[in-house]
Amino acid sequence: MSGTGLTTKTALFTILLTLLTLSTVLLALLSFSGYRAAINHLADQQTQALMTASRLVQQSESMVASSALLLLADTHASRRRAVFEITDRSEWIGRLTDALQQYRNHDRHFAELTQARFALAENLQHLDTLVGERINLLGRLEQAPAGDELPALRQLEQRLRQGVEINRRLSRDLSVAVGFHIHDIRNGILNTVAQLNTDIERRERQLLLIAAAALLMVVITVVYIHRTIVHRILALQRAISHERPRPEYVVVQGRDEISDMARSVRNYIEKIGKNEARILNMNQKLHFMANHDALTGLYNRHHFEHHVQALRLRAPDSHLCLAMVDIDFFKSINDRFGHDAGDRVLTQVAATFISVLPPSTLVARFGGEEFAILFTGTSAEQARQALEHLRGQLAGTPLEPHDLRVTLSGGLACDYRPADIGLALKAADTALYQAKHQGRNRIVLASPLHTA
Ligand code: GH3
Ligand code: MG
Ligand code: MG
Repeated sequence: MSGTGLTTKTALFTILLTLLTLSTVLLALLSFSGYRAAINHLADQQTQALMTASRLVQQSESMVASSALLLLADTHASRRRAVFEITDRSEWIGRLTDALQQYRNHDRHFAELTQARFALAENLQHLDTLVGERINLLGRLEQAPAGDELPALRQLEQRLRQGVEINRRLSRDLSVAVGFHIHDIRNGILNTVAQLNTDIERRERQLLLIAAAALLMVVITVVYIHRTIVHRILALQRAISHERPRPEYVVVQGRDEISDMARSVRNYIEKIGKNEARILNMNQKLHFMANHDALTGLYNRHHFEHHVQALRLRAPDSHLCLAMVDIDFFKSINDRFGHDAGDRVLTQVAATFISVLPPSTLVARFGGEEFAILFTGTSAEQARQALEHLRGQLAGTPLEPHDLRVTLSGGLACDYRPADIGLALKAADTALYQAKHQGRNRIVLASPLHTA
């Protein structure tokens, strides 16, 4: 079963990062729309309210001026003009008060404003009546005075002064009420701005937090990718970059795509290792077979020649003794006891060669029942004695099967250099031939054909 852990985890990290990024954008968009609403409210409601309130102040001041006109009126015509002005102002004050109430959307303090407005209008009406009476009284005083006009005029002036006083107080009340609203609107604007600032700061903190979380997420993702992907791939690459990669160099951890890959690589290295060992083993076998005789396990002629060639290069001046030995009447063993028995005899003769001859001698089977024995660093006499010892041992040892005894004939050629191995072989062969002719079971020393 192949692992999919890495794909799932990487997808999860990517989704988390995307979610964080999206929530940052969403939060920013939400904040912007909130700020836009607050700014619009500021621009539409609060500013309009402020403008309305300032127009209300203007109208209140004009009302005071119109009241002065009324007080100064000395004819009914000028009185009516002043009343007309006052009515106009009063209507404007009413309209602006309604508008302000609409903008401000609550009627907490409008009672004072309305009360002041109506009281002012009422007082102005009262003043208008008094001014009308004063004009009539002054008219009578000019045309047909009855005598009581002066005290009545004084009393009227007295009442007018009181009315003017009330008017001044009511005008001030109106200004104070409007001023309160202006102050309130200003506070509202400041509050909105302060609230906006608080909101912006809060949103800034939230956005910073989300950005920090996103950054942390990026760092975690990078560390995760490095530890679980890059690091392991590099380790895998190092393992297979070895001159001779070994399965234990490949670390397999967990169950994911990279561990699947590592497992495959390890199996592959194992397989390569096994094949290599098989090839090595086969090479060793081939090398052995190329240099040894299959039946007796002795060296073969090919190895003999190779050995002499190496000796020629390594020690060209060394002195060699070469013996050619042959089992006597071997054919009769085959004929009497069969080829297998002959094989067994050959194997035992070879084993006797190895056990009896000194370890420094090289014994090679040249073919059939004929062997070459090479002595290095040995005198002719020592070589001859070793061969005689071998011959005696073999002749006195019963061999399987049927307690057979075999004898050897040998020809020994001494004092040859490695380069003259051909001559040595020839001389030893000739001496062997002589040994056979002289009755077998003997070693004949070749006459020196070559003088070293
Ligand atoms: P001689 O004393 O003159 O050497 O007589 P011989 O019988 O030993 O020599 P000859 O050359 O006539 O016979 C050698 C025999 O060795 C003939 C051959 O069948 C036998 N032979 C050669 N190689 C093998 C082998 O590997 N196994 C067996 N069993 N016999 C072999
Ligand atoms: Mg023979
Ligand atoms: Mg022979």
